[in-house]
Amino acid sequence: MDECSSIMGIPVPKMTMQETVDAISREITQHKAELFHVITLNPEMTMACQHDPDLRRIVNEAGLLTADGIGIIMVSRLKGNPLPERVTGCDLLVELLEKANAASWSFYLLGAEESTSRQAAKAIQETYPGVTLLGRHHGYFAPSEEERILTEIHSLKPDVLIVALGAPRAEKWIDQHKNRLNAKIAIGVGGSLDIIAGKVKRAPVMWQRLNAEWLFRLINQPSRWRRQLLLPRFAVQALRYKEK
Ligand code: UDP
Repeated sequence: MDECSSIMGIPVPKMTMQETVDAISREITQHKAELFHVITLNPEMTMACQHDPDLRRIVNEAGLLTADGIGIIMVSRLKGNPLPERVTGCDLLVELLEKANAASWSFYLLGAEESTSRQAAKAIQETYPGVTLLGRHHGYFAPSEEERILTEIHSLKPDVLIVALGAPRAEKWIDQHKNRLNAKIAIGVGGSLDIIAGKVKRAPVMWQRLNAEWLFRLINQPSRWRRQLLLPRFAVQALRYKEK
């Protein structure tokens, strides 16, 4: 059996959520010098990789890719090489926090609006008292503030750096600064801090089971409709794509 399923030329490992958490956990305990970059690959990023060679390189060099979204899973199934399940940024973050609660891993949160960042940090501290939250910074910093943020993250040495700056900015930011972050793991998690802070509602489990989370998001955040138009285009192009 193949270990990966290729989505528009990008090999996505066939890993469940549990296997993903175990792999990240191993990286934290057996950490080597290099930062381990986890990328949750969604249809938008897969499409962007087709015309953005730098993003393609970053995705190719990632320590681990996960299948973020039902679109990726559906395409893998229809192409006869199915990925086992969705591993979205938000679900992965929650699973890592659960694990970190027992293992006392440390986190740094970068991104989202100041009030969201503050509320997400508070929610994490209340729900996962075993997690060491070393620091946080909102994601609307000026270029002149970046150096200070990098120095802070470097000096705090978090096990896990969460970057919620939106995709693919988070992935590019992590890649650009990977030698200076002094973190073991870095993950771009999209709007997950908004969900943890309670600012954006996650689709109820029933909707998720029916693979209709995209519809829930469309109803609750109608401003995203333009972005969602990309999903049918992704499906057509990914199904037509001749994988090598
Ligand atoms: N964001 C940020 N700085 C910016 C732009 C966005 O911190 O300059 C945050 C934003 O507040 C939100 C997250 O990045 O918390 C992006 O969420 P979205 O759901 O749009 O993520 P995507 O699906 O684009 O990865």
